Amino acid sequence: MSRRPIIAGNWKMNMTRAQAEELITALKPLVKDAKAEVAICVPYTDIDVAVRLCAGSNIKVGAENVAWAEKGAFTGEISADMLLELGTEYVIIGHSERRQYFGETDASVNARLKTALAKGLKPIVCVGETLEERETDKTADVIKKQITGAFDGISADDAAKVVVAYEPVWAIGTGRTATSAQAQETIAGIRAEIAALYGAAIADGMRIQYGGSMNAKNVKELMAQPDIDGGLIGGASLKAADFSLVVNYDA
Ligand code: PEP
Repeated sequence: MSRRPIIAGNWKMNMTRAQAEELITALKPLVKDAKAEVAICVPYTDIDVAVRLCAGSNIKVGAENVAWAEKGAFTGEISADMLLELGTEYVIIGHSERRQYFGETDASVNARLKTALAKGLKPIVCVGETLEERETDKTADVIKKQITGAFDGISADDAAKVVVAYEPVWAIGTGRTATSAQAQETIAGIRAEIAALYGAAIADGMRIQYGGSMNAKNVKELMAQPDIDGGLIGGASLKAADFSLVVNYDA
């Protein structure tokens, strides 16, 4: 099955509204002919600016998290309805920085994923092992636990709408990229896990990104791997020229 690659930026806690406007204005003409699907996941405060500027372009806008609850006493959280009202299409769930710094667990990732799917947001679910887990040969077990935890109670129809991002924690923001062989091996393992949960057809159709210091230099080799269907890009998404080189990896 052919899967359309998706290259998504993750701005993290970067970019004021003025900076967002500048970046998107510069980015639009640079990526307008991209073959891959293009998305930028931006801070909540930038979403309306991004949606306005990306309207009519090929750039989709996403958020970096979503509340599991519909509304109520959840200080600091942003609901799916709030995101949808602004025109948000994608949402990152379970990024390793959320797991590491904000206590996100497989259970909370699962709860957020269920809400995102119920509301019609398109989720990008992140999984990945720490350096210690890789060095002690626990990668496969950790990923299996994260995948089964994230997809617990999710129907096959809904699972088919999810993008998974494999992001080894030791490669995020470190300049240290997984080798294409390491990324391919782990992503093939994720696809096998999805096949075990939902069958071969859902697994073959699922887009699985690599994330972790992906940039203009390494994108071609990573994207040449049979199971890698795109990238989640942090640092290299913060400059229009850098991000466009990743997006246009096959130009
Ligand atoms: C990320 O934030 O998802 C990421 C992969 O960051 P970076 O590209 O900077 O490693």
